[in-house]
Amino acid sequence: MMPTPLRFRRRSYLGLLFLFSLSTSALYFIYSAPGIVNEYVFMVQARGIQIRENVKNIGAQVLEQVVRGAYNINGTDYSYDFNFNESDAPPTTYLPDGFTYLPSQICPEKLPLMKGRVEVNMSEVSLEEVERSLLEGEPSIAEGGYWKPKDCLPRWRVAILVPFRNRHEHLPILLRHLVPVLQKQRLQFAFYVIEQAGTEPFNRAMLFNVGFKEAIKDFDWDCLIFHDVDHLMENDRNYYGCAGMPRHFAVKLDKYSYMLPYNEFFGGVSGLTVKQFKKINGFPNAFWGWGGEDDDLWNRVQFANYSVSRPHGEQGRYMSIPHHHRGEVQFLGRYSLLRHSKERQKVDGLNNLNYLPVVFRMPLYTNITVSLSRNLAPVADY
Ligand code: UDP
Ligand code: BGC
Ligand code: MN
Repeated sequence: MMPTPLRFRRRSYLGLLFLFSLSTSALYFIYSAPGIVNEYVFMVQARGIQIRENVKNIGAQVLEQVVRGAYNINGTDYSYDFNFNESDAPPTTYLPDGFTYLPSQICPEKLPLMKGRVEVNMSEVSLEEVERSLLEGEPSIAEGGYWKPKDCLPRWRVAILVPFRNRHEHLPILLRHLVPVLQKQRLQFAFYVIEQAGTEPFNRAMLFNVGFKEAIKDFDWDCLIFHDVDHLMENDRNYYGCAGMPRHFAVKLDKYSYMLPYNEFFGGVSGLTVKQFKKINGFPNAFWGWGGEDDDLWNRVQFANYSVSRPHGEQGRYMSIPHHHRGEVQFLGRYSLLRHSKERQKVDGLNNLNYLPVVFRMPLYTNITVSLSRNLAPVADY
């Protein structure tokens, strides 16, 4: 056999050495920086969804154009406007400015104050500053953030539930933004911030279950809004009453290029009536870490034969405050749990949850601190 020339061998040794050092540094990277890797996985996943959806949407839009072009609708060459949507239309269905309603009448749903697009202010602000400015403008916000309109009877009593851990910079931004919108919508409302204590991975769904149980002990609410702390609505016609519930509000997110990432997406901001939430046995408790709990809620809603409504067009737009996922783990077991959504729905949710909350009132919300661990929600065989 011909001996391999030395030059070549040396080069392949060098190559091997290079590959070896690359793979060890990759391993070192994965070992030493799981947070960064997780974040990368999130990014790739979101990007993947986005690209797939972009392609689908563009495809559908092109097809729409072709079909419409072929039929030449109404004999005009008026081009089909993809961007047309309900809220850009003249607000004929909204009451005119100056319309007066009576304190003895139910507040209308489409009030003249609800003009559509609202400015989103993401600049940082302290909670004290927001408390000061909101209470100055409207001293009738009671401690705990309870408010109801005085010039008409509120159509809905709405509890806004916000899952929380270490997002102190986001909460005042949300309150500054959302409180005036809910007042314009003439809803009766209060905020419940459910804060996770302990060292377990974050459990958004279990926090919502705790928040629900505490909120209905506190007051006779009609509607529940499950609201991420970092989501800011861009349109005040995105009405938080519960006529169309179950409802997915956060349809068009800036972080997904204002497109629904997939049809079953139920994340960010969603809402159910108290009756519906009880019927579906609440959220699952078994989703520890990032991801999947909203997909499971979607499944629960479908199994209960409800259909989900969504705001039209521009009304479902949100901006989300940019943030990192430092220290958060993606829940990789979510896919196998999601395969058994139906069976688990009966045994995991509101009916197997125990907890010990610490509840106190803040000027603009009720704080519910709760330490979460797996033994609080034992799951029977299914
Ligand atoms: N959340 C929190 N602290 C955390 C993780 C999540 O308060 O460490 C809450 C918060 O309300 C947040 C929501 O859970 O908006 C959803 O989590 P996240 O923002 O991390 O999800 P993503 O931005 O990927 O949708
Ligand atoms: C997760 C959801 C998340 C969605 C969009 C899915 O893979 O399971 O929880 O809302 O991605 O980010
Ligand atoms: Mn977020």
